[in-house]
Amino acid sequence: MTQCTICPRECDLKEGQTGACGARHAAGDKVVPVVPGILSAIHLDPIEKKPLNHFYPGTTALSLGSFGCNLFCKGCQNHEISRASAKDTSGFRMSPAQIVAQAKAYDCPTIAYTYNEPIIWAEFVEETALAAHEAHLNNVMVTAGYVHEKSREKLFAHIDAANVDLKGFTEDFYQSWTGAHLQPVLDTLEYLNSIPGFCLEITTLLIPGMNDRSSELEAEFAWITEHLGPDIPLHLSAFHPDYKATNIPCTPIETLLNANRLAKAAGLHYVYLGNVRIASDTICPACHQTLIKRMGYMTQIVGLKDGKCSQCNHDIYGKWNRP
Ligand code: SF4
Repeated sequence: MTQCTICPRECDLKEGQTGACGARHAAGDKVVPVVPGILSAIHLDPIEKKPLNHFYPGTTALSLGSFGCNLFCKGCQNHEISRASAKDTSGFRMSPAQIVAQAKAYDCPTIAYTYNEPIIWAEFVEETALAAHEAHLNNVMVTAGYVHEKSREKLFAHIDAANVDLKGFTEDFYQSWTGAHLQPVLDTLEYLNSIPGFCLEITTLLIPGMNDRSSELEAEFAWITEHLGPDIPLHLSAFHPDYKATNIPCTPIETLLNANRLAKAAGLHYVYLGNVRIASDTICPACHQTLIKRMGYMTQIVGLKDGKCSQCNHDIYGKWNRP
């Protein structure tokens, strides 16, 4: 048996056996990708779509996805690729050098590892991220943060920013909705926040009747403020019925507005509402001047100069001047 330590599932695999994520299998004395370097999609996305609102706003990210996932969320909106095994799908391949060349050709300052969980195709992400850094490009990851402590350092060595899905704030919810555990995700968040210069943002999808109780949200927001700091941007997103959760309704706007109020009451400075047509401006936490106006993925910088509020000179969390 060979054990995979990419994520806390620690799958013990017999020769040729595939792990729970569907993306890795045992070969010799290692657990490696079933189909190395296979991709399901490549698109040019606004960086705000990741969502990352504090990482070079208004720029685009060359966004890549592969197949499989180490979580089993009932409402997964990408289940066509997250529940597909790399072995049984028709993807396509590009080398890290070709991906970097594409990013340069389209004037993208950033490569994003997204659409499905990037940590399960770690080797390709690491190789591409290194090539991107050598070409002076940025790397961002969109992840559920369910990462084994033994793999964190290598996985994030060349990643500059991440949006981590904090899917709820009780162990019961994590187990029943995702088949995973809460604590490793919190550990990943603290680890990423400890990396100097790393840009961390968090998304919580509010699912009616599942993870949207005020007491649960208050506990989450208090934990973020205390353990990560009030400057970490938080995206509160509306749920839409999908996959095995078509019986659950869309998130009412009142739920989003209540969560927004609770997050600000907990002291969080940058709270954004997602999956709804509502303005999501960035406001200076010191003098309350509007810094960035947003509607959908349209971004207009109006009150920010060299990463500071142009009115009161307050330092604003994030990376702002495009390299
Ligand atoms: S990454 Fe995949 S194979 Fe490795 S421990 Fe997690 S689920 Fe198992």
